[in-house]
Amino acid sequence: MRELLSVAEARRTVLAAVTWVQPVEHVPLADALGRTLAEPVVSRDAIPPFDNSAMDGFAVRTADFDGGTATLRVIGEAAAGRMPDVVVEPGTCVRIMTGAPIPAGADAVAPVEWTEPDGDRVLIGRAPTAGQYVRPAGQDVQPGDTMAKTGTVVTPPVVGMAATLGFAELAVRVPPRVAVVATGDELVPAGAALRAGHVRDANGPALAAQVVAAGGTVVGPLHARDDADDARRVLGVALDADVVVVSGGVSMGEYDVVRDVLDALGVTWAFWRVRQRPGKPLAFGTRPRGRGGDTLVFGLPGNPVSSAVCFEQYVRPALAALLGRSATVRTVPAVLAEDVAKQAGLHHFVRGLAEHDADGRLRVRPTGAQASNLYSSVLRADVLIHLPEAIEDPAVGTPVEVEWLRW
Ligand code: AMP
Ligand code: MG
Repeated sequence: MRELLSVAEARRTVLAAVTWVQPVEHVPLADALGRTLAEPVVSRDAIPPFDNSAMDGFAVRTADFDGGTATLRVIGEAAAGRMPDVVVEPGTCVRIMTGAPIPAGADAVAPVEWTEPDGDRVLIGRAPTAGQYVRPAGQDVQPGDTMAKTGTVVTPPVVGMAATLGFAELAVRVPPRVAVVATGDELVPAGAALRAGHVRDANGPALAAQVVAAGGTVVGPLHARDDADDARRVLGVALDADVVVVSGGVSMGEYDVVRDVLDALGVTWAFWRVRQRPGKPLAFGTRPRGRGGDTLVFGLPGNPVSSAVCFEQYVRPALAALLGRSATVRTVPAVLAEDVAKQAGLHHFVRGLAEHDADGRLRVRPTGAQASNLYSSVLRADVLIHLPEAIEDPAVGTPVEVEWLRW
């Protein structure tokens, strides 16, 4: 087992352990939001499927316009949902509604606003140019176009495009099963009375929510006490999942039994402790299993800030890789709007607030005190400010990289 890795080494190690991609299932469009495409969405059709009108008005022949105006006989009507059965001959036009197919013979649409009725004829005060207000077939999508790639997260527009293209179902990845285990004798569940010396379990529910937000399904959240027997019982069950996320019990304390118990249950630890704050005691390992790749096991430090940040930095990318998504943690440039206290030798993840200054630059400031037990610093943040190991006490104006927190 390696100790005290850099953030980059730790993330590389985690991603190297992801040796499989989740299997494929087909889900109805209505259930596809947030899922990850396992196949590209490729169009079989042209969209729009036929030339159609962009306006309510009259389908005309531009050749009929002489000196910019025309008086044309109205020989029929074209409405959305029906193919017109009339042909626009010279001197005639067809009343047309938005979305209706353009009748044969017509090459433009004169909007109703340009016209005045005159018995069975219509006076058109302006000449449309050829093709004006006609939405040509295939303008948006051509047959064979790839509209969404494998690995895309299904958003509402992906649902809308898939529907337009006639997909009733989408091929998506089966969500990885992620067991969440909160450890600690001091923890009581939400809703239970808080006894002296106890705290409510924040990480169980929060990590479960992070798993769902990252595209997994949750086993638990489970709870284990700080004794080896109880931890063995609960972690033994948890190890049946694809990924195990344990909070607490991985530090140097007398009752931090998680690493030893998981060791005894067959987990090989790849690393323990990362040169980062918060989250230094992070542990990561794997356990072989019969099917697919190894079970991934994360031991997150119990302080709620450490737990939340370590999930975003290491567990979320691993789940992304399992789903066939990009696992890159994306950052954007910003400048510090305040001095920040920081020691050299640790990569700091500072919970921050971002705003654009008058020049359009992103300026970021910490959300107040940054100790790893101060959970409100996470709640209030919209970015994580990445301060690399080498930096010491960066001053206002220092260029930094920040990561938008998109829960
Ligand atoms: P540990 O990593 O187990 O040493 O825990 C570090 C700190 O985090 C201690 O103050 C714990 O009480 C607290 N803690 C651990 N687990 C949780 C949890 N699930 N919810 C809230 N606080 C926790
Ligand atoms: Mg503990």
